Amino acid sequence: MSGGTERSFSVDNARNIGLCRLCGAPLEHTFVDLGMSPPCESFVPAAAVNNMEPYYPLHAFVCSECFLVQLGEYVAPEEIFEEYAYFSSYSDSWVAHAKRYCQLAIERLSLDRDSFVVEIASNDGYLLQHFLEKDIPILGIEPAINVAKVAVEKGIPTLTDFFGKALAKQMVAEGRQADLIIGNNVLAQVPDLNDFVAGMKVLLKPSGAITLEFPHIARLIEENQFDTIYHEHFSYFSLLTIEKMAERHGLKVFDVEELPTHGGSLRVYLTHAANAIRREPRVDALLERERECKLDRVETYTAFAAAVRQTKRNLLSFLIRLKEMRKSICAYGAPGKGNTLLNYCGIGTDFIDFAVDRNPYKHGRFTPGMHIPIKPVSEIERTKPDYILILPWNLKNEIVSQMKGIGEWGGKFVVPIPDVSVIDPKELGQ
Ligand SMILES: [Zn+2]
Repeated sequence: MSGGTERSFSVDNARNIGLCRLCGAPLEHTFVDLGMSPPCESFVPAAAVNNMEPYYPLHAFVCSECFLVQLGEYVAPEEIFEEYAYFSSYSDSWVAHAKRYCQLAIERLSLDRDSFVVEIASNDGYLLQHFLEKDIPILGIEPAINVAKVAVEKGIPTLTDFFGKALAKQMVAEGRQADLIIGNNVLAQVPDLNDFVAGMKVLLKPSGAITLEFPHIARLIEENQFDTIYHEHFSYFSLLTIEKMAERHGLKVFDVEELPTHGGSLRVYLTHAANAIRREPRVDALLERERECKLDRVETYTAFAAAVRQTKRNLLSFLIRLKEMRKSICAYGAPGKGNTLLNYCGIGTDFIDFAVDRNPYKHGRFTPGMHIPIKPVSEIERTKPDYILILPWNLKNEIVSQMKGIGEWGGKFVVPIPDVSVIDPKELGQ
């Protein structure tokens, strides 16, 4: 990272958010402060574009005891989840990832018609549908009403509720315990982390397994992925922290895989602490690597903020140069992470003419805060912009391959993270 050391004055203690949501230690260290931002999934309908929008702090802290990186519960979960715009089925690579996972889980855990699989935050059923095909009993739990409705229409049994210890106890009282509990990209979104993990412990059969997927904080730091921080993501984990979390709840980690999804994720396998299952050597190998990366030292985390500020300056300088050359720029994708980037950097319609997205729910709406209009993907073909800023950079390869036709009019892609870079489709092999 260029730019040298930055001078700044710390105001940490004036703005701390209290106690760690995992271990209860006081939170005294800033990870990064991204200023004030509206909830990133609150896409603004045209009729509301002149209304006031709520803004909340996007200030992440790190716990010096368990190293959980976390935001305060600035936005009530009910406000976030009642109408959630993200439908998992709109990403091809994500659907393929889900299918591979299901095949693997069915073999490894010998799941059959007598098993019971529960997915928490089951979205539109994109994952559970693969168990349904094999006649394995399933249940989805999904708090977003509009998304759960889509799942039910596909024949996926879905409870519209928030998961925690109370719901788990109710299910057990009804005679339902799970052989497999799946939590993909939900752990980060749980405000009461301890209640959530306690609930999984209650719901799990003695021989059952839990798999959790979440973005790996090691990759977030290494690759400067500050835009994966948003109000809906309360927590950011290393395996070191997950192990502390498991121990606290009578669970243990028995395997871990590193995945390329969401910029680099972990899939951890948990079971009851009393289960005799062998721990795979790669668990200890990854823990050791995290210690080598000093993820057990608070200084590693507090150094992140300066790198983020440098990225903001680099991206803005680049966009200003493009505009001085009279280039037109649009954005591809309007994901949550895109809105953190746009709001933190202050990138609005002065730089970006419009954004396109494959999700029709977003068409005709505006991005929260910056109010960039969102249009169907065909708008790119119609207007032939010079540059396309790829906001969901985790899907960069998929998008470049789908959209490489922009090379016909000399269009190029811009990827903002980890550092601003340009991809010319004409220079790519066929
Ligand atoms: Zn802690």
